[in-house]
Amino acid sequence: MDSSGSWSPSSWKSKSIAQDVEYPDQEKLAKVLSKLHTLPDLVTPSEIERLRFQLSLVQRNEAFLLHAGDCAESFDACTNENVSAKIGLILSVSLILIWGARLPIVRIGRIAGQYAKPRSSKMEKVGDREVLSFRGDNVNGLDIDDRTPDPERLLRAYFHSATTLNHVRGLLTSGFASLHQPRDWSLSHVRSPSLKNEFEEIVESLTDALDFSRTIGQESGPSFELGGARSTVGEVDFYTSHEGLMLPYEQALTRLCPVPKSNTDALGASNLNEQKAYYNTSAHFIWIGDRTRQIDGGHVEYFRGIRNPIGIKVGPSMKSEELVRLLDIVNPDKAYGRITLITRYGAGKVEDFLPEHIKAVKTSQHPVIWVCDPMHGNTLTSSTGLKTRHFHTIISELTSCIRVHSECDSRLGGVSLEFTGELNDEGFSVTECLGGSMELSEEELGLRYQSFCDPRLNFEQSLDIAFLISNHYKN
Ligand code: PEP
Ligand code: MN
Repeated sequence: MDSSGSWSPSSWKSKSIAQDVEYPDQEKLAKVLSKLHTLPDLVTPSEIERLRFQLSLVQRNEAFLLHAGDCAESFDACTNENVSAKIGLILSVSLILIWGARLPIVRIGRIAGQYAKPRSSKMEKVGDREVLSFRGDNVNGLDIDDRTPDPERLLRAYFHSATTLNHVRGLLTSGFASLHQPRDWSLSHVRSPSLKNEFEEIVESLTDALDFSRTIGQESGPSFELGGARSTVGEVDFYTSHEGLMLPYEQALTRLCPVPKSNTDALGASNLNEQKAYYNTSAHFIWIGDRTRQIDGGHVEYFRGIRNPIGIKVGPSMKSEELVRLLDIVNPDKAYGRITLITRYGAGKVEDFLPEHIKAVKTSQHPVIWVCDPMHGNTLTSSTGLKTRHFHTIISELTSCIRVHSECDSRLGGVSLEFTGELNDEGFSVTECLGGSMELSEEELGLRYQSFCDPRLNFEQSLDIAFLISNHYKN
């Protein structure tokens, strides 16, 4: 394919588009898109550049990446409680990781825009009816009488993203997210006393360390350089992400902006020919899914032209030479911090595919961050018909990844998880994945199964994973 041809925010339209949505009302779609085009940016170029720089630190083994959140957000789940619980869980997990890995954690939430879902088939059978598949809240409704794609939902997605992001920004600046107050993230509903104790011990040690810095005269803790701006220990950065599936939406929020001056030196961006670049302002980081990464497809075409750091899902069907060609297209300059490869093979297949992929990427000299997604290759159906994942296969994929990377003289730079801090009205965690220290059984799955998409780890199971990774890096 001609990937060196001229790029524009709409050049993807001349390619074939996997998972395309067919809107019956094209006039309404055009109106919605032109409205989206005029609405303000959700995130800014400086924030995007800051993330790009922080990811280049991950690449240099100076930080670890935590990518986590829901499989899909829903408009109804956009509440104070849910968003706060998600941020609380991401912070708790990252605190455990900081403790073990002794590295800064770059936090990217699957949040404030993760509405669209790829589907394996266009239609689905519900009872005796054959209806269009549910494609996520920004496309159609879960209700079987609401399956016609409605462009208005793209606007609602934008406003729900803006509201979510506003709440996240509020939490970050009002002290909730401060490492000085990790008790606010609440472990009251965690069933296992040993898990609670382990977390409390970390909180105690951290509080001591921060108090010590204060005592020796650094009022708010030592500060350090991260991303061209001074950060203070005890304060956290947080970034948003979603799968860049709906290209009309992504295009409407793509803007030509000056590359922020303060970042250009730190990024080596003085090499940029032009001082302007196209930024996708709907999220800091977007990724290409395993079903939409065709070399000559519309998604790859769109992604190659934006300046945001991007992710690429890598499943068992990815050929090594295809992976390298893909990297040549989306990162021809071999820039650091630009590409994160998110592998999701399935626990039993890591050995078969990862070593080859690592070897091919090394030979190509493409700088990438390797992240393990131990969720998407390990989905199964329980005997009661619920989509689930077993904790031990999730752990197995993760530990195989860590081992294979070290055997191949490579390094796992991060982890990508589907989890939720959501609680039901009585304050109990969801029950969607089997096992973990709470030993969730098949019979318990139906108790609080709330996901309308993939099964998510609950609060307790997520802390289990965090301790596992943390202990690996500590030992
Ligand atoms: C996802 O991350 O929710 C997803 C659909 O992943 P993949 O593209 O790897 O199947
Ligand atoms: Mn998913």
